[in-house]
Order: sequence, then C-alpha cells, then structure tokens
Amino acid sequence: MLGEHLVEQGRPAAAGADDKNGFFDHGSPVGWDAIAQTAAAGGNLSVAFGDRKPIVFRLARVSRDEPKAAFDGRWRGLSAEIHAASCNGHTTGMPIPPRPNPLHSALAIPYRWAAYSSGSALRHARSVRRPRILMYHIVGDDEVSTRQFEWQLRFLRKHLEPVGLGELANRVQAGTVTGREAVITFDDGVRNHFTVAWPLLRAYAVPATFFVCPGLIESGDWLWRTELRMRLKSLGNAERGEVARNAGCPESAAEAIMEWTKTLSMDDRRVFQTSVEKLTRDFSPRPEDTERHAPLTWDQVRQMDASLITIGSHTSTHPMLPTLDDSTLETEIAGSRRALEQKLDRCVDLFSYPNGANNAAVVKLARQNYRAAVTTQKAFVAEGNDLATLPRVPGGGGRATFVRRLHKPTA
Ligand SMILES: [Zn+2]
Repeated sequence: MLGEHLVEQGRPAAAGADDKNGFFDHGSPVGWDAIAQTAAAGGNLSVAFGDRKPIVFRLARVSRDEPKAAFDGRWRGLSAEIHAASCNGHTTGMPIPPRPNPLHSALAIPYRWAAYSSGSALRHARSVRRPRILMYHIVGDDEVSTRQFEWQLRFLRKHLEPVGLGELANRVQAGTVTGREAVITFDDGVRNHFTVAWPLLRAYAVPATFFVCPGLIESGDWLWRTELRMRLKSLGNAERGEVARNAGCPESAAEAIMEWTKTLSMDDRRVFQTSVEKLTRDFSPRPEDTERHAPLTWDQVRQMDASLITIGSHTSTHPMLPTLDDSTLETEIAGSRRALEQKLDRCVDLFSYPNGANNAAVVKLARQNYRAAVTTQKAFVAEGNDLATLPRVPGGGGRATFVRRLHKPTA
C-alpha cells in the first residue's frame, strides 16, 4: 500500500508506564513523529505485534493542534500491545511482552511467593550485576505501603548499594559501575514525599532523587489527573454519566472516563475539566488527600537535607512533552531547571520525563540541559547507557514482587 509505514517491534526506548493504554496520541509508543510522517505520506499506519500479522489502521485525522490520530479498527482493545511498538527505526515503545499464558497468570503469585520464601528470588537478584534505578510515586497507597517501603529500604541497605542518581551517572560515564547500585527516585514532587518518604529515607540514610515540578509548587496546583479523578468520583452516577455523555465520552465510570481523557487534545481536555469543575464547585479534597497529593512547598523542599535528597526537574507543570510546541518545550525543560536553581540555590542537573513520554526533540533538549534523565522504560541500567534516557524499575509492590523485579524489571 502506498505510503504505508510498518511499525515493528524494536529495541526498548521511552514510553509512559503510566500511559498503559498507549493511545496513538501524546506520549504514545508509536509517537507523534511516526504518525505525522505516515500521515504526510498519505498512508495507513500498520502495526506489527511481534511475529503476529500486522494490523492496518487508517489515519483519519492528524494535526499539530490536535495531537490525536483517529483510527478505524479495534485499536482500543489492542492498545496494550500497541504500547510496545516502534516505527521506522524511531523506537518509542517498550519490548513487546509475550502473550500471558493463563496458567502462568494463575500461578504467578504463588510462584512469586515460593521464589521469595525459598530465597531463590534473592539469589537470582544478587546474581544480576546491573545498576537499578527504582521509580516511586507515593508511599502509603496501592503502589507501596509505608511498611513495605521501610522493608525495601532495609533490604536495599543489606543486599545492594544505595547510591544517588548523580553518583550512578558518574559511574556510568566513567565505566566504573559495580552492578550493585540501587538508586531511589520519586516523581511528581507531592507532599507525601516530605511527610512520609523523606523521614524514612533519613532514618535509613538512603539517598534519593525527588523530581519536582516548580510551576506546580509555585501555583499550588495538583497534577491535573489526580484532581480530575477525585472530582469525577465525587459526582453521583447520574451526574457523571451526563457530563460524560455531553462531552462525547461513551463511558460513565470514573476510571473509564479518565482513560478516555487520554485520547483528548490538550484543549479538549481543558474544556472537559472546566465542565467537571463547574459541576463540582463545592468539591474540596479530604485533608488526607491534600497531605498526599498537594505539591510540596518551597519550604519543604529546602528543609530536606541536600546531602541525601537530590532535587531534579520533572518539568514545570507536568505536561505530555511530545504534544508541546518548541517554545513551551523550552520553558518546561530548560525553564524548570532555571526556576529550581534560582529558588533553591543549588545545582539541578537531573531530569525525569512526565509519564516517560518523549521523542527525539524532547530527548535532545533534555540532553542539552541536564546531565542525566530518566524514563519509565522498565529495565536495568546497562554499561554505556545513554544518560539522557536511563531506564527504571518500578519500586512498589510487596516483598515477593519487589525482589522479583530486582532480577526481572518487567515483572
Ligand atoms: Zn509524573
């Protein structure tokens, strides 16, 4: 077919672990560039899932203002696999996981526990000589409980070598990694990091990097997804169904609507947010939610011991970077560093891509402005890794899952 671009499985690169649906829009695995190229060639986008037959999508609409491609075909159901694709050598996805065997899935948890309690998972983890950068968001919720986090810190102290991200970057550059390095990182710069994570890190003397958003610290605004989710949940079923229908969303459950918002352009999403805000004028977050999700204050950031906690940038306001024009991109990537350095009077040279979303232009700018940057790609750090796209390992989970991920990062 004329102009058809085949998207094939490729080597790992950045894709948003948070963006599990991997829609072909902002931060998608196939990526804006790939979609734009395909559209410019007037062709269809064909996606190959591993060794399975490629599936062809007709590009219905693509424009810079509307960074969303509409497709025909059953793309929603396939999204998890589309998440793991690459295009024309420009890889933006993760390796495609093998199709889960239902028997394996049923046995996964007992197997994991058996491997953990017999000590074989630990032996396995210790035999893998690769630095790990662990990724956390909140301590004390579904990702990791406070007790689990504390246990993990003790575990890392005992079995690996906790180091700062800057130190690991130095070793990667110098070619002196030992393979036992474990680096802790927290994304999003929320209050929970100061009130829960930081006291534990201090107690166990484990260094960490907190990636914060200076624009949100300044305005006090929450991450838009967190707030929208809470507002939607505060609505009654009928009201939520109506606001969704009016906006053209076929679903009425809060989580389904949240998924749907990922398919919207920035402008459409803002319109939808405003309509929900109007309906939830009386909404005010519970104190425990504020304690957890509100951004850190400058005072809190300054109070954390700089010898243990390194502050990095997570952009100014947490946008999906591949959707931005050049000047906004500059403000979010370079401007956030300037703002942090000015406010904190310390060097800020580490960066984390929101949702792991990036493309060639985003990585180039991050490389120009920072010494090292982390993605959400699930892998260990390898010798000679590009410092601008360092992979991470999800840090959460119970003991068995945590230890398993230390030898199998995609678990
Ligand atoms: Zn984030």
